[in-house]
Amino acid sequence: MKKKYLLTTEDGTATLFLEEYEQAMHSMSGAYEESLLKHIIPSGILECEKDILNVLDVGFGLGYNVLALINEFLNKNDTRKLNIYSLEKDRNFMEFINSITFNDSRDNIYSFISETYLSGEGNLNGINLKILFDDARKSIKNLYGTKFHAIFQDPFSPSKNPELWSTDYFIELKKLLAENGIITTYSSADHIRRAMIEAGFHIGRGPSVGKKREGTLASSCNITRELDKDEIKAIINNIKSMPYEDPGLNAERETILENRLLKIKNIKNNIK
Ligand code: SAM
Repeated sequence: MKKKYLLTTEDGTATLFLEEYEQAMHSMSGAYEESLLKHIIPSGILECEKDILNVLDVGFGLGYNVLALINEFLNKNDTRKLNIYSLEKDRNFMEFINSITFNDSRDNIYSFISETYLSGEGNLNGINLKILFDDARKSIKNLYGTKFHAIFQDPFSPSKNPELWSTDYFIELKKLLAENGIITTYSSADHIRRAMIEAGFHIGRGPSVGKKREGTLASSCNITRELDKDEIKAIINNIKSMPYEDPGLNAERETILENRLLKIKNIKNNIK
């Protein structure tokens, strides 16, 4: 059994380290802060002028993106309907979620989130939360027809979790994103930006938080701090920015990683 354990980050909130990914779920500079500053605020979801807001959260983890979203929404006394879908394949975080407290008003919301982690579906004053427990590549196919105003793209890092960073996966997300909707992510890696570009997105710079580099924002329309033509050309023309491929949306992690390296090697050999 691979180990999992909680660590305290610099903003005082806990993150979970998973041996399976050799990685913690959040930046050590502040777990909750990362949710707020990398996803909720840059997504613009709280300013979105729709009567019903739909949000897709990829990688429920400890539920901090969901918590920060609901907390900010309630702080604004927003009374609109908010539908949150969160995708997670691991059902074994309960003991960690149950041991986390914030010692403020977030605890009530977190209790609701923790109950929903058990039941899969819950409602808090008109806020609907559904957690779909499966491989996100399968779950997104059950969401066709729903248009999301924000998508929080928050898996583990690309080299550890490549199945949720391929061009084919981003093509699926594009089908789910509302016009003017925004995808937020902490990654600024060129091969991830290229996957998003190849999926048809406009790419903008996301905020940088703590010691981490800037993130990336993606939209089907123009976006703030958009990369210019030369920057995009440089990404596309760089062999090292070869994106992950997963045409059947079912390949194993190792296969996705190996195929990418093989493709880079073949291109280099053809150039020689
Ligand atoms: N957003 C989370 C939070 O606010 O606490 C942190 C997410 S953590 C970095 C990434 C999550 O993605 C983990 O919980 C992991 O189990 C989940 N995950 C990884 N691969 C997945 C997949 N193929 N399908 C669904 N969930 C996946």
